[in-house]
Amino acid sequence: YAAKKVKTGAMLYQEAMNTDGAAHLLLLGDLRRAMDAEDQLSLHYQPKIDLATGHVRGVEALIRWKHPDRGMVSPADFIPVAENTGLINPFTLRALQMAVRQAHEWKIAGTPLPVAVNLSPRCLLDPGLINQVADQLRQLDLPADLLHLEVTETAVMADPEMALATLHQLKALGIQLSIDDFGTGYSSMAYLKQLPVSELKIDRTFVGTMDTDHNDATLVRAAVDLGHNLGLTVTAEGVETEAQVAALSVLGCDNAQGYYFARPMPAGDLTAWRLAHSASAYLSRQP
Ligand code: C2E
Ligand code: MG
Ligand code: MG
Ligand code: MG
Repeated sequence: YAAKKVKTGAMLYQEAMNTDGAAHLLLLGDLRRAMDAEDQLSLHYQPKIDLATGHVRGVEALIRWKHPDRGMVSPADFIPVAENTGLINPFTLRALQMAVRQAHEWKIAGTPLPVAVNLSPRCLLDPGLINQVADQLRQLDLPADLLHLEVTETAVMADPEMALATLHQLKALGIQLSIDDFGTGYSSMAYLKQLPVSELKIDRTFVGTMDTDHNDATLVRAAVDLGHNLGLTVTAEGVETEAQVAALSVLGCDNAQGYYFARPMPAGDLTAWRLAHSASAYLSRQP
């Protein structure tokens, strides 16, 4: 018999992007329902490691969608769809709520840890964002330094003036800001130095091949130096091998995040991972 084809999230997304028809509407409808459902959306957390000490500096919150029939759908597949519709704003609010609640739980457990949430381009242009973020913090009395927000260069460049104004207001709340996926978007040096950010995250497309591709190694070195010259903490994304860790340490990169240390995981697993994580054991493997 012909095996029944079950569409994966990626296939659904491709259809939704290629057609403007039924698949798109289906995905949008499913996303809307996911927003109202209690159990379809969750956050996974991936630790960020200080390369000099081996300590955990914070975690990045990454959204996960468990579709009732299709299983796990990757954010790379549905964020762009949400972004192209008004859905991204309530969506971001939902991610913020979950992240702030978790940061609060870790804080009251006596093990506080900054949680970074990704903001999509459209959110930076949402006039309601500042109040929503402030409300979230206020509701749980969460210190603003336990919430970090990540934005891409491309998001800023879409409307630099509006984005800059939003970022300044977020910073005024006491929130630390990061430039995400650095090197993949376009940005002008003039804006880069004006951005009220404290961290630069080098995209994993360069980090992943820095130990085999000389050009990528050169780019990573340039990004680390640029970040440091702008007074920023530099984090490498997508670190998967010990060789990459060694190379990044030599370059003076501050932090690293990637499968080499830990995959993104549910909050409970992250709590257990922190207990088991030994900074010094990790350091002893350094050259
Ligand atoms: P991002 O913010 O750059 O997040 C890093 C992505 O790299 C995550 O993919 C993470 O799982 C993956 N990653 C981490 N370490 C490694 C590694 O060592 N190797 C490889 N190959 N990948 C690694 P994920 O979770 O699929 O998220 C993809 C993107 O979706 C994120 O990229 C972010 O732009 C977006 N995203 C995720 N959650 C949210 C959210 O709550 N809101 C918004 N607006 N965007 C989100
Ligand atoms: Mg990110
Ligand atoms: Mg990134
Ligand atoms: Mg990315």
